[in-house]
Amino acid sequence: MQREDEKINVWGARVHNLKNIDVVIPRNSLTVITGLSGSGKSSLAFDTIFAEGQRRYIETFSAYARNFLGNMERPDVDKITGLSPVISIEQKTTNKNPRSTVGTTTEIYDYLRLLYARAGIAYSYQSGEKMVKYTEEKVIQMIQTNYANKRIYILAPLVRQRKGHYRELFESMRRKGYLYMRVDGEILEVTRGMKVDRYKNHNIEVVIDKLAVQGSDDIRLANSIKTAMKQGEGVLMIMDKDTGSIKNFSKRLMDPATGLAYSDPAPNMFSFNSLEGACHHCKGLGVINEIDINKVIPDNKKNIHDGAIAPLGKYKNQMIFWELEAILGNYDCTLKTPVKDIPTEAIDEILHGSLKKIKISKDKVHTNSDYFIEFNGIIKYLQDVIDNDESSTGQKWADQFMAEVECPECHGMRLKKESLSYKIWDKNISEVANMDILELKDWLEHVEEHLDEQQKRLHTKFSKKLKLE
Ligand SMILES: [Zn+2]
Repeated sequence: MQREDEKINVWGARVHNLKNIDVVIPRNSLTVITGLSGSGKSSLAFDTIFAEGQRRYIETFSAYARNFLGNMERPDVDKITGLSPVISIEQKTTNKNPRSTVGTTTEIYDYLRLLYARAGIAYSYQSGEKMVKYTEEKVIQMIQTNYANKRIYILAPLVRQRKGHYRELFESMRRKGYLYMRVDGEILEVTRGMKVDRYKNHNIEVVIDKLAVQGSDDIRLANSIKTAMKQGEGVLMIMDKDTGSIKNFSKRLMDPATGLAYSDPAPNMFSFNSLEGACHHCKGLGVINEIDINKVIPDNKKNIHDGAIAPLGKYKNQMIFWELEAILGNYDCTLKTPVKDIPTEAIDEILHGSLKKIKISKDKVHTNSDYFIEFNGIIKYLQDVIDNDESSTGQKWADQFMAEVECPECHGMRLKKESLSYKIWDKNISEVANMDILELKDWLEHVEEHLDEQQKRLHTKFSKKLKLE
């Protein structure tokens, strides 16, 4: 026989579909509530017992504090006794998507990240080729063989396709004693105060050494390669002096065709919640907000004078309408022409602007001569509001013309290109995470047949860990 204070008594619970039930739950033990779907398990556990515990807890706060928490409604129950402070761990909500994916709903994704970081095979997102990785010794050996008796430049890449004047970079290399740099494909002597066009993208390498490759015990070659690896953060380039051809070598993962290098994979690289893994374009969300033409022109039977272009509203005696009138004039249309009858090119010009200047007649602007102006389009006009008007009214106003669309960079997969280029059995991590449970089961059961020896060892470890779960 249990003492009163060793049990939780619930009398007359009627929350949702509970039919005025009484229950006694022993304290200090584990109780499982089971039953058919819809029989009221959650209504009893979360909406009655937890809710009442939470409500009593909040009632102990001062009136002032309760203002911020909001009042919690008393659950529909006659009486509950023996209740101590309550904690609700979590109720896993099932995915609303009928195809249940493992993606974010289970911890399997964490193991997938580990598997991909350890056993994924990297491919270049530029050339599609398998990335290679060599030791420093192997790189030295390859250069000795491939360039025997040839004159070469050993280059260390410092800047790849990035804007800037790089004055400090040139100066620091000059101070380190380097005499030559290769700037956008051209070997230049490094001079004091040297810089490049800051608004252009540049490729800059420092010339570590110029030499003729000797026999296999070439100490100078080996040393220069080591230096280049250091300066180039694991990547170096060899230029054949006579042909000008360039080859990339790396002790990091590298695309032999383009020289694209990846940093060593880590589990974080496969997480869209981390800076290392998230797609830069959508910040890991998989969607971006874009101006939606259908919201800008919701009704194409209307004409512009009567407000067909929603962000502009009805005709006002303003420059923007004079501009539209001028554009339409070039297509034998007026502001009164219904949008559906305006040629596509004209609509395109109205939305996206045009490079050719449009003429505003002198009697509109009250000047002596006609006025020529560039028209950037309605989209640009909206975009400017979004980018420059920080006020909530400005953003709210602009928001009504936006729509959420799939990120064009990651196609909704939320990870950066590099992370999506690691594959196991021809699938990247996102493709695996989006499989439904049966497909995934099948994949996990057969993936082993498609792994090499090293990958297999890792996979076995992985499966064991998964089974432990
Ligand atoms: Zn993206």
